[in-house]
Amino acid sequence: MVEALLPIADRVWLYPRDDDDNKLQPNVGVIIAGGQTVLVDAGNSPRTARRLLNALDAIQAPPVRYVIYTHHHWDHVFGAMVYGATTVGHDLCRKTLIEMAGKPWSHAYIQEEIQRTPAREAGLRALARAIEDWRHFRIIIPEITLSHLLRLHLDDVTVEIRHVGGQHAADSVVVQVIEARTLFVADCYYPPPAHQRRPDSALDAELIAALVKDDIEIYIDGHGSPRTRDEFARLTQEGRSTNGCG
Ligand SMILES: [Zn+2]
Repeated sequence: MVEALLPIADRVWLYPRDDDDNKLQPNVGVIIAGGQTVLVDAGNSPRTARRLLNALDAIQAPPVRYVIYTHHHWDHVFGAMVYGATTVGHDLCRKTLIEMAGKPWSHAYIQEEIQRTPAREAGLRALARAIEDWRHFRIIIPEITLSHLLRLHLDDVTVEIRHVGGQHAADSVVVQVIEARTLFVADCYYPPPAHQRRPDSALDAELIAALVKDDIEIYIDGHGSPRTRDEFARLTQEGRSTNGCG
């Protein structure tokens, strides 16, 4: 269980992923500027989101105003109902979450989904562990959407949200905190989710190469530790990975 925020750069923190892969609890980015807090992803469940709020309280962070969804996968989105914040995501993220919000979420529904798509079993079992009580659960649909690019101006800090798509999720965006030289890339360069993966699925080397830029020093993905630019660039040599969610 994660208790505390990790400082990353000026005005940027990380609520780090849970090392236990069975929990499927990814990184959540925290940007504090202009008297407000912006989150990059929502945490995988209301329980995780409440822990994150406690961690924000411990550093006396201002209220959460925006939650930016990097993509629609549940482990990045399902904590959002706790914050009462404005949610931001790609047009396609909104469309997909509207469809997902129409499903009869419950433990019985998750069992049916496992029967329908056995390749999703590990992820769905993690979801069943993450959310024990579905009675008051709600998916929060993005209220602000982008098709290509959106900037949030928080006093002297600029947060740039850019659509990159890719094989992991077509709605993937990356979030750059310009002055902090930090880029949240979430899962965009990962292989497709388990049930869409082929034996030859690999990291998206082309997308990784496109994201390597001189004005970015820190790269934070969805399910790993923060990386320097060189470490991120070297990922292209790693090739195959089992990383990812869905
Ligand atoms: Zn994902």
